[in-house]
Amino acid sequence: MVIGIIGGGASGMAAALAASETGAQVVLLERQARLGRKLQATGNGRCNLTNLHALEGGYHGEDPAFVVPALERYSVEDTLDWFRQMGLLTVAEGSGRVYPYSDQANSVVDVLRFALEDRGVDVRTGAEVQRVRWEDGRFRVMYADGELVCQKLIIACGGLAGTKLGGSMSGYQLLRSFGHPVTRLRPTLVQLKCGWKGVAALKGVRAECHAVVLRDGQLHRESRGEIQFTEYGLSGPVIFEVSRDACQGKGDWVCKLDFLPQMTAQELERELRRRCVGSRKVEDLLVGILHNRLGRVLCQNVGLRLELPVDRVTDDQIRELTQAVKAFEVELTEPLGMDSAQVTAGGVRTDGFDPETMESRLVPGLYACGEVLDVDGDCGGYNLQWAWSSGRSAGASAGKRM
Ligand SMILES: Cc1cc2nc3c(=O)[nH]c(=O)nc-3n(C[C@H](O)[C@H](O)[C@H](O)COP(=O)(O)OP(=O)(O)OC[C@H]3O[C@@H](n4cnc5c(N)ncnc54)[C@H](O)[C@@H]3O)c2cc1C
Repeated sequence: MVIGIIGGGASGMAAALAASETGAQVVLLERQARLGRKLQATGNGRCNLTNLHALEGGYHGEDPAFVVPALERYSVEDTLDWFRQMGLLTVAEGSGRVYPYSDQANSVVDVLRFALEDRGVDVRTGAEVQRVRWEDGRFRVMYADGELVCQKLIIACGGLAGTKLGGSMSGYQLLRSFGHPVTRLRPTLVQLKCGWKGVAALKGVRAECHAVVLRDGQLHRESRGEIQFTEYGLSGPVIFEVSRDACQGKGDWVCKLDFLPQMTAQELERELRRRCVGSRKVEDLLVGILHNRLGRVLCQNVGLRLELPVDRVTDDQIRELTQAVKAFEVELTEPLGMDSAQVTAGGVRTDGFDPETMESRLVPGLYACGEVLDVDGDCGGYNLQWAWSSGRSAGASAGKRM
């Protein structure tokens, strides 16, 4: 009796390990040359593999409660223990984000790879599945240069996001061929373009800030953390948090940034006045407070010439500069595409699957896990936790009923 798994990413490897623990013969098919290609790029190469708060919410989709049974059965604690047993030491940051102690995403891929080897999982790379047929209660899986016949089949093909790292429509198409509908797909945890032309001059600059996102003038979300300027707009955890909804559909979206939340406007104004004496130039006015490039751009943005001596700056200009530092407004226009997104919002409808087992309600013996399903999590390790929990749930359930 054979369990076939399509997709050697986070959820597919987790499913393969769980299935192999049941004593089943497991074949893992991955279309790329190696396993866990996307996993290797996660968390800026550090892999934020889970979040200590993952059970408290932070998941989205048509039915956010769908994640609960798998996350309870394979909890964060259990996941960390599972990784510890595979030899991975981890460390948690104050925010609850967990990383490998080595700070390398490679370590996560390596321990999974070694465990698959130890358990005798038959890993076939370069095996892109094109078609699957269900005949006489068995699945016939056709992939490049080969065919696999199995009694249970787990689809773990991931989503469309991160196309260069392996994101594709494949999983959606395979599950659709079994009658499973797919919801609208859109990028999330993605940079947002903005209407402010000056942003390009700040490309690469990072700043801690308090961000308030408004939709049609109404508060949509606020948060504090790092923001990154890019060629076209804004990125970083704070922006990722709003990227699921921002600029989707109608409405004007504005992001108001406070680059110095630890100081009040009055305190900053006083500090700037103190600096506006002597022979320094405007270009150095915010040195020591903000990133130099950001400081200069903000000065220019309120019409101050960089070569102007600071003692010529007027009280009105000091007030305007204070406003720029404390409440800088940027119009958000649209998210970047799936190429740049970390995660896909939407996916295969979850009401077609049993959340306790991840088994299809339409085709017995067919399972799905990970991002291919209509589940997406917040930034900070939530998506990988879903991949581990749903993958292990699917693998264990597929093995059980053999
Ligand atoms: C740049 C980036 C950074 C990220 N950082 C984080 C982070 O730090 N923390 C976090 O929680 N999440 C992060 N994510 C999201 C996270 O990586 C995904 O949600 C997670 O990998 C999904 O797991 P999965 O197994 O469903 O899909 P994947 O990991 O994408 O695996 C799917 C696999 O299936 C293979 N495949 C697809 N179709 C076929 C086919 N037809 N035949 C054979 N194989 C196929 C693909 O090649 C791929 O290897 C990040 C994503 C990106 C793009």
